[in-house]
Amino acid sequence: MVEDTETVEQPDKQTDTAARESADRRDLAVRAAVGQGLLTEADPVVALLDVAGVRASAAALHAAFAAVTAPDTPVLHAFAVKAAPLVPVLRLLRDAGVGAEVASPGELGLARAAGIPPHHTVLDSPAKTPAELREALSLGIAVNADNPQEVTRLDALLHEAPSHSPIGLRVNPQTGGGSIGALSTATATSKFGVALRDEGARAWVVQSFLDRPWLTRLHTHSGSQGVPLALMAEGVRTVHELAEEINAAAGRRQIDTIDIGGGLPVNFSSDEHTPAYADYARLLKATVPALFDGRYGLVTEFGRSLLAKHGTVLARVEYAKSAGGRPIAVTHAGVQIATRTVYNPESWPLRIAAYDADGRPRQGPDVAQDIAGPACFAGDLLATDRPLPLLAQGDIVAALDTGAYYFANHYAYNSLARPGVYGFTETGGPMRFATVRAPQTVAEIVAESGGGDPDALVRD
Ligand SMILES: *Cc1c(COP(=O)(O)O)cnc(C)c1O
Repeated sequence: MVEDTETVEQPDKQTDTAARESADRRDLAVRAAVGQGLLTEADPVVALLDVAGVRASAAALHAAFAAVTAPDTPVLHAFAVKAAPLVPVLRLLRDAGVGAEVASPGELGLARAAGIPPHHTVLDSPAKTPAELREALSLGIAVNADNPQEVTRLDALLHEAPSHSPIGLRVNPQTGGGSIGALSTATATSKFGVALRDEGARAWVVQSFLDRPWLTRLHTHSGSQGVPLALMAEGVRTVHELAEEINAAAGRRQIDTIDIGGGLPVNFSSDEHTPAYADYARLLKATVPALFDGRYGLVTEFGRSLLAKHGTVLARVEYAKSAGGRPIAVTHAGVQIATRTVYNPESWPLRIAAYDADGRPRQGPDVAQDIAGPACFAGDLLATDRPLPLLAQGDIVAALDTGAYYFANHYAYNSLARPGVYGFTETGGPMRFATVRAPQTVAEIVAESGGGDPDALVRD
């Protein structure tokens, strides 16, 4: 968990109410998912997305930055597609005024399929091929170069064909890591961007901009879950300072936009949305006031914080057993959905809620039990020794806060099928579900696994 008590305010009454309302909507959705036959013996695991919650988070993001920026400052909020690579989700966000940050040909394809316009799209991958760069430049989408070799490659491509793409350079402020090493991108030796404090790097960056009028943006992203807000703000301060230095050296406003990345951490221990976008925007304003004076356009790239709290995975308890005195609920949600939690439970604990077979919250005294997944290895556990009302065969477990990087990022272990994803909306009448992604079928698994040509390796 993030220790950041100075900047994270206690939730006020309003956030309390929003948290309670979203928990109530979730309970209704679980009940309706059972009642309407989404979760069945044949489809024992499903993923649900709270459409109203996603809209509310997008609105909170817009409001938080609008409150701190000078009027008429161009601000693009680009959703980090890797957090939920699902076309209808990107379309929902597009309609809420949010663009896309993409990092692979696949992610760009999803953003385009969702109708996200080029000027709301940012390409950030650290390993862009010439073909990817050429496509981005011809579409006019923003590109952030990662390193000197990519800048040289861009020199050549722009010589071949001019482009309307805004082009930036990613820098690593080397401000330090957070509590999860694998997600800390501002360490001294991070693989991302130009390491600004390395010998000669800063001078190289400044000269590169002076030599290239088309280089007009700076980009940084200090990390995701586990990085304290103050450290993220410090990275943004470093990049703003660099922009000022470059513009002073150029004698004009060459850098017109700063891309501050994403990384707002998510609270995985309750329904409260803490820290809030407004907390981070206020901290940024206090740390780098001049960033918001209207001289720079802004790009943000939040992923997890827009989606995580609005997703719930439901799985039926296939069997309830006990081993060594420990009750174990064997469910259909495990490593294929909660990969990070299963392999690294200390960094990625998930809340689990217990429901009965009809989708009503399970009552009863808490009993320490394991919530196991279906995969064939002993570590496939969503939770260990977790106090919950004792689960019985046919009950339902809900893995909460799984809307980002969980059900959308399937891991094909044991050829377990990708679950269906359904968006739910409640407008007074019965809960309505829309199919975001149909459940994967066994025929699809076979086809994707070379099933179309079984003889490929035995033919002479
Ligand atoms: C992953 C990533 C993001 C999004 O991070 P979140 O923690 O999901 O907000 C933004 N920008 C870049 C470059 C990333 O790699």
